Amino acid sequence: MKNIVYIGLGSNIGDKKGRLEQARGMIAGIGDVKIIQTSSLYLTSPWGNPDQEDFINQVIKVSTGLPAGDLLDRLQQIEIKMGRQRNVKWGPRTIDLDILLYGDEVIDSPELRVPHPHMRERLFVLIPLREINADLVFPDDGVKLREVLVSVLDREENRGIRKI
Ligand code: ATP
Ligand code: CA
Ligand code: CA
Repeated sequence: MKNIVYIGLGSNIGDKKGRLEQARGMIAGIGDVKIIQTSSLYLTSPWGNPDQEDFINQVIKVSTGLPAGDLLDRLQQIEIKMGRQRNVKWGPRTIDLDILLYGDEVIDSPELRVPHPHMRERLFVLIPLREINADLVFPDDGVKLREVLVSVLDREENRGIRKI
């Protein structure tokens, strides 16, 4: 069975656009993963730790038969191959690949939480996701993406995120 999965990509070191392209190529090269749709690229201010370069972020939609844990392993292998080092929490990174949504599954293990626990607070995830699927509904509580976006935009203006 194939699942529809949304993956968030981010980079804020060096040739960020090139790195996202390289990461998409490597994701497409995973057996049993097919990229169906990609959002625009967005230039965004850093989240959580402001003392670093801006990010480029993107969301992609894939179809895969891989179980969520296996997909996470493969994404982490790509991060390592691309030189990702885990030093500072929310610090600079060559590439960050997060599983945002995995079909309708709700997963809550130490290694993997889906829906991604911070995605509803992050415009750099919500805005590109809306580009791909404006009617999306969160599988855990049935809340609509458009409603989440309205409340986040209400709280904070759309500062520091723009399409490139
Ligand atoms: P954030 O989770 O706030 O986006 P981050 O992406 O900087 O922070 P990482 O250092 O990349 O965090 O990942 C830390 C751990 O998060 C990973 O080792 C992974 O096991 C775990 N994790 C939990 N849920 C997910 C998910 N949905 N997608 C990717 N990693 C996840
Ligand atoms: Ca992340
Ligand atoms: Ca991550």
